[in-house]
Amino acid sequence: MVCKDLGGECAEKLSAGTPREMVDTMVKHVMENHPNTAKAMEKMHNEDPDKWGNEFRQKWALTTEE
Ligand SMILES: [Zn+2]
Repeated sequence: MVCKDLGGECAEKLSAGTPREMVDTMVKHVMENHPNTAKAMEKMHNEDPDKWGNEFRQKWALTTEE
């Protein structure tokens, strides 16, 4: 998955073995590289964690199908 797939701003590749690891990797990357995006994601996650989680799982499923 690349940063953009997850709502980020760049095309940096982020890889992980599990969805949980992917979230951790993404959060770390966004906080270090896109502080504004990190804030927006945190807000979205706080307002509607289920929606965020569902969207993430869909994206994860799509990228692991290949
Ligand atoms: Zn990025």
